[in-house]
Amino acid sequence: MGLVPNSTTDLTCVRCGVEGEHDLVVVGRLLHSTRCHACGHVVRHEQRDLMSAYLRDLEHRLVTKPQRMARRAVHEPVSFLLGLPGAVLRQPAKLVDEIRTVLRGR
Ligand SMILES: [Zn+2]
Repeated sequence: MGLVPNSTTDLTCVRCGVEGEHDLVVVGRLLHSTRCHACGHVVRHEQRDLMSAYLRDLEHRLVTKPQRMARRAVHEPVSFLLGLPGAVLRQPAKLVDEIRTVLRGR
């Protein structure tokens, strides 16, 4: 099984602190690792860490950039789905409905 990045997303790097693009290596529905574009730091993710990192990331987007989040659901469905814990679904119903509609359409 190779480690070729098959998606990218914006995360905050734990090493250099830059919020920017990270390569994602996704195996099945699990995120194997991320790699910071800025400094090249690679992090292998436990599923628990993944959920917590994505939850923070998505909550931030729900507050600040709902359109961007909806767009991401379309263009990066794998990483989006990986990061869709129940807490997000308790966010404002209008946005959640939009997201569900987008996901159903796939
Ligand atoms: Zn970095």
